[in-house]
Amino acid sequence: PAEQDEPDPNKKTLVVLGTGWGSVSLLKKLDTENYNVVVISPRNYFLFTPLLPSCTTGTIEHRSIMEPVRNFLRHKKAAVKFYEADATKIDAEKKIVYISDDSEIKGATSETEVPYDMLVVGVGAENATFGIPGVREHSCFLKEVGDAQKIRKRIMDCVETATFKNQSPEEIKRLLHMVVVGGGPTGVEFAGELQDFFESDLRKWIPEIAGNFHVTLVEALPNVLPSFSKQLIDYTEQTFKEETIEIRTKTTVKNVTDTYIEAEGTGPDGKKVLEKIPYGLLVWATGNAVRPVVKDLMNQIPAQKDSRRGLAVNEYLVVKGTEDIWAVGDCAVANYAPTAQVASQEGAFLARLFNQMAKTQTFEAELAQLSEDQARAPNKETRDEVFANIKEVQKRLRRVKQMGPFEYSHQGSLAYIGSEKAVADISWLTGNFATGGSLTYYFWRSAYLSMCFSTRNRVLVILDWVKAKMFGRDVSRE
Ligand code: FAD
Ligand code: NAD
Repeated sequence: PAEQDEPDPNKKTLVVLGTGWGSVSLLKKLDTENYNVVVISPRNYFLFTPLLPSCTTGTIEHRSIMEPVRNFLRHKKAAVKFYEADATKIDAEKKIVYISDDSEIKGATSETEVPYDMLVVGVGAENATFGIPGVREHSCFLKEVGDAQKIRKRIMDCVETATFKNQSPEEIKRLLHMVVVGGGPTGVEFAGELQDFFESDLRKWIPEIAGNFHVTLVEALPNVLPSFSKQLIDYTEQTFKEETIEIRTKTTVKNVTDTYIEAEGTGPDGKKVLEKIPYGLLVWATGNAVRPVVKDLMNQIPAQKDSRRGLAVNEYLVVKGTEDIWAVGDCAVANYAPTAQVASQEGAFLARLFNQMAKTQTFEAELAQLSEDQARAPNKETRDEVFANIKEVQKRLRRVKQMGPFEYSHQGSLAYIGSEKAVADISWLTGNFATGGSLTYYFWRSAYLSMCFSTRNRVLVILDWVKAKMFGRDVSRE
């Protein structure tokens, strides 16, 4: 390797893949001086995903919820290497990660390999399409900053195209039909944000679209938000009705073209019917799928052969069938939902585990040295003194070795549902309770604000909220 990439031979090399919830929470708490830490991710920033739906309509500007990794890595005690690249393959036997710079600007070297002693896989998941034709070509996902920017642009493009001279009534209706597929929290929050945008801004600025702008949420199951309690599902469905967002449950999208989707529902006679639903904007939010680099790693490990949704891990988040690979977040299967809450707790757990492991090694080295000292002690007095030291170090070693397995502590689920209302399933000391409404909305806002990565993010988000309230959202099409 080039001189600047040379690792310290006295330390183990810990490679961390990804800069999302899992990896960043690990990096925040890790004592980096114990390892040669190398971070690899195609994204040189952390993204606060809970507020991403707000970026699609300009309630929040995307940079307000991004935090450059360089910002917090430079405050770590020991330098951390960051390579902006995709991990394209992990060779579990050779202990090598192959990386590729897929950004626009490439240097003479854009593909190389990084050896590791310990590896943390925190690459998240990709968007599920279930192989449904046309999804990738025609719809927008909602996972990354670029997705939110694309949606924001398309909403305004649909609106401006609908108001184009001599547009036919049928075409206007199609262009202003905003279809969201997937009634999980992502789809619900986006539909709510979009309807808000229409009600508080678009309707005023471009009144001629008022009669035709329409949001529809399509969900295959009998209800939206399947992971929330029945009471909150009913509350959400009722609120959407009042907001005039149409919910089409028990309707499964089977095919997507550039102007309509084909969805299978049940007719009044109980028979399956295939319906064409024209759209102007299509947002696809049907959950997670396993990334190719993770699938490839799973295929290398016999113990992973029965795992489908990601890397099966044990209670210490070690990838089953390996000794030196850990996985966190959406790419790990540990019987928890794929949420930011789980990923960040897993990352923090691994940081503690690695800090303890380093301490264990230090204590073990100290013990080896002390035993030698004891053997070489010239008299009983010195021997007793060394013996006392050994006892003390052994006690400390026992303490650090006592670390228990990962345990997830669920703080509750929150989702924004539009018109300044939110739903919350919260488990506190007093037990579980479910709540929805305007007060919950303020709770939602303050909870997310407190969870923002940095004070800088917090200030920017507040300013964006104030700006949107005072001047309305920006409707220019960038
Ligand atoms: P991610 O945060 O997705 O990070 C993965 C990282 O890996 C990224 O940095 C990515 O660039 C990088 N990466 C990808 N491929 C590679 C590769 N080949 N090599 C190296 N790096 C790679 N959860 C909640 O608990 N509460 C919420 O309110 C909430 N709201 C959400 C809203 C939206 C719109 C979305 C999409 C999700 C939301 N979630 C929420 C879910 C939450 O964002 C995920 O569960 C969480 O991001 C998972 O963390 P992760 O670290 O596993 O993956
Ligand atoms: P999800 O998996 O929760 O929901 C996807 C929905 O799409 C499912 O209800 C599924 O039935 C439906 N679906 C699948 N295929 C379909 C088809 N062909 N036609 C119609 N409907 C179809 O996905 P998500 O909402 O993206 O959430 C992913 C993860 O992120 C979840 O764990 C979620 O809890 C988390 N998340 C949490 C929040 C929050 O807490 N506020 C917000 C966003 C995401």
